[in-house]
Amino acid sequence: MPVRRSAKDQESMAQLDARPLPRAKDYEDLPEQEVRERAWRARHALGANAVILTHHYQADEIVEFGDYRGDSLELSRIAAAQRQAHYIVFCGVDFMAESAAILAGPEQIVVMPAGEAPCPMAAMATAPDFATAWAHLEALWGSNSVTPVVYQNTGAAVKAFCGAHGGAVCTSANAGPVLAWGLAQRGRVLFLPDRYLSVNSAHALGIPDEQIGLWLHRRGVLQAPAGPSGLKLVAWDGFCHVHKAFTVSDVEQARREHPGIRIIVHPECTPEVVQAADQAGSTSFIVRQVEQAPAGTEFGIGTEAHLVERLAKENPDKLVVPLRRNVCGTMARTDIYNLCYVLEHLAAGQPVSVITVEPGVAEQARLALQRMLDIK
Ligand code: SF4
Repeated sequence: MPVRRSAKDQESMAQLDARPLPRAKDYEDLPEQEVRERAWRARHALGANAVILTHHYQADEIVEFGDYRGDSLELSRIAAAQRQAHYIVFCGVDFMAESAAILAGPEQIVVMPAGEAPCPMAAMATAPDFATAWAHLEALWGSNSVTPVVYQNTGAAVKAFCGAHGGAVCTSANAGPVLAWGLAQRGRVLFLPDRYLSVNSAHALGIPDEQIGLWLHRRGVLQAPAGPSGLKLVAWDGFCHVHKAFTVSDVEQARREHPGIRIIVHPECTPEVVQAADQAGSTSFIVRQVEQAPAGTEFGIGTEAHLVERLAKENPDKLVVPLRRNVCGTMARTDIYNLCYVLEHLAAGQPVSVITVEPGVAEQARLALQRMLDIK
């Protein structure tokens, strides 16, 4: 495993090795500036032995440490391709770090500074509930009649069930192509857990509401007002509270305050909001649209606040305003204190906050993740 360190880095490393390492909570009483400086020292000491991946929704103080910044699809691809670093430091939430651990090489160690950061939407789909829905649909339509598609925002056991049943993972950046792939496989798709991403993607493919059913996972019931026989998509009734909070009145207010403003929202927003907006797309899509627009363009953005505020800062020649300031509390669990704690321990060769996935689960989940990476 290649490790490149300057003499100064080696000196920092020796200093780190020489002293007893503090516990996580010891960092919280330290002045923020001192913690930031220590985090940078540890980062430099690690050199190419560690790669730091940061999601777009992370705060600026974390993103500045990132070797790569991206959405979950981009970071999955990087985690799969990244073989030089012994440590992958994933600044995001549980399901992302789990995916990195599934795709990483056997000798690589994935750590997540937040330790635990469970996405509330991912918690809305468990493997047992998935199995219940699957059994119900197979009883209705027969075996091999539905392709499972699971959003990246799910736990490893849910991805494993999907992989074992011929399905693929998707992200907000490729939900449309993966849904089309699933329909081409078996004619119907069960998509979980984000109801709105699946319905918005189906609408974009021209699938009407009559062909979309809803699986009510708490009750174990399929809702299909026009009957189940013509369904092409069964959506799961999960949602992201950050994106569901945007409303059509937010869009209307932005248009009133800034005539000519271009509204772009994330596809986890409701179909009504997506319809009221000018465009909908993944976080990477939103970033590209803003960066590539001519100076003077005005944007109203419907996604997580940290990304919108960073876009405003990095594009001072354009106006970038949030439709509403919605913060993801789970993403915000990563801070400079737990990042410093993790980096100093890695620099001392004592990994903490390690993310692992049980090998049998990882093997089946990898099938679903790899199918996604193979779909163009
Ligand atoms: S933004 Fe929504 S989907 Fe993403 S981690 Fe937060 S709660 Fe989960």
